[in-house]
Amino acid sequence: MADLIHMSAAELSSALAAREVSSVEVTTAHLAQIDAIDGNLGAFLHVNANALAVAEEVDAARAAGEPLHALAGVPVAVKDVLCTLDMPSTAGSKILEGWIPPYDATPVRKLREARMILLGKTNMDEFAMGSSTEHSAYGITRNPWDGDRIPGGSGGGSAAAVGAYEAPLALGSDTGGSIRQPASVTGTVGVKPTYGGVSRYGAIALASSLDQIGPVSRTVLDSALLHDVIGGYDHHDSTSIPTPWASFTDAARRGAASGSLAGVRVGVIKELDSEGFQPGVRAQFHATLEMLAAHGAEIVEVSAPNFDYAVSAYYLILPAEASSNLAKFDSVRFGLRVTPEGTPTVESVMSATREAGFGDEVKRRIILGTYALSAGYYDAYYGSAQKVRTLIQRDFAAAFDQADVLVSPTAPTTAWKLGEKLDDPLAMWLSDITTIPANLAGIPGMSIPMGLAAEDNLPTGLQIMAPAHADARLYEIGATIEALLDAQRGAPFHTLNPHFSAGGNR
Ligand code: GLN
Repeated sequence: MADLIHMSAAELSSALAAREVSSVEVTTAHLAQIDAIDGNLGAFLHVNANALAVAEEVDAARAAGEPLHALAGVPVAVKDVLCTLDMPSTAGSKILEGWIPPYDATPVRKLREARMILLGKTNMDEFAMGSSTEHSAYGITRNPWDGDRIPGGSGGGSAAAVGAYEAPLALGSDTGGSIRQPASVTGTVGVKPTYGGVSRYGAIALASSLDQIGPVSRTVLDSALLHDVIGGYDHHDSTSIPTPWASFTDAARRGAASGSLAGVRVGVIKELDSEGFQPGVRAQFHATLEMLAAHGAEIVEVSAPNFDYAVSAYYLILPAEASSNLAKFDSVRFGLRVTPEGTPTVESVMSATREAGFGDEVKRRIILGTYALSAGYYDAYYGSAQKVRTLIQRDFAAAFDQADVLVSPTAPTTAWKLGEKLDDPLAMWLSDITTIPANLAGIPGMSIPMGLAAEDNLPTGLQIMAPAHADARLYEIGATIEALLDAQRGAPFHTLNPHFSAGGNR
């Protein structure tokens, strides 16, 4: 049997069911990997001290012949944006340092009900604001392919943990790309579900109309398995979709087995195939399109003219909603409280706490958001951005009349060097250009590894998007494309990592 940490969740699931391996062994192997490399990698903010005890219970239940979920005993890492009863939940912010929530987020509760093993909480940009994980109050995370580079963001911790074999699976959150872009730059798979497909109950909100929780893994099938666990209706979330969902696992298995894209119309969005993207990313994208065509896909060019305004609209809507969501961090209800000298008042304590507890990027967006929402400017800024949002939704609707799925590079570049964009917020924001439209429209999007960019040998990602509620189509077509790419290169993408045999960058 392959080394336990290099196995996929699907492989671990079969090996556990066949009792070739125990959950204690699988969990121990992943904890040992965390122990060996995370001091340098920085993917985890907190490692679950109970993980092995839960694994022992699962093994005992299996030995007693209890019926178990397919993923029972399989480890999973959780982005620190999700509330966990028994572990601190900080969203990468100093203002929530040490805060232990009184309840589990719904996706976390579902992981526990499936008896998966929670390995711990992963690093992220503070309140999920960022594309590099450098805005975390708790230090940086490194890219598993090159330790001098960013792992993407905001969910760099989850992507790095999966890319460096610390966990086969992880949860992320995607407001403007924070699952897909880290997946792209770490050579992993990440999925942003349809808005309302996975409960947001217990997810520390960034921008409520954009946020969505989703899976991170090394294969499409593994993301499907995890999505099937966390998805579905939840009465605790008023935006949760009540209609039932197809099995994503079945869709992924069907797709992997098919080997053909005959009859599939693949739309290339002109505006997201820009001359300005890194040449090696574009080259991989066009090579992938040719490969899809050779396997029967019909490639059609579609235009989405309003995507040119997506980043601008997003950086008004997001700060507006964030400024309102973050108002609850008032020094009274959660976490940090700083009392200034002299005679403190409610206002001075609140102000000192927010001054000390929030980082620069968070402050920047709160100021932008409150300004955009202020009387006199509301219509000009927030109102206009909402109109753009509607236009983008119409662009998608028109594009999906011509294509079954839409594709683009997931990110315009590969992983950049740590520190490179830290002092240039605008450059950082522009890196979201490819992922933001899906959030504005509420549609599902997936990133799968395409290949290495010629100029730097770093992973590039293919983004696949489908209409709302058609997540199963993403898994089916995504699994076909992944299988074709794997066959072409003769090995799964992640084995190309130069640190593969050492089990991830040290
Ligand atoms: N990078 C984007 C931002 O900074 C995406 C964030 C996210 O998806 N949470 O807003």
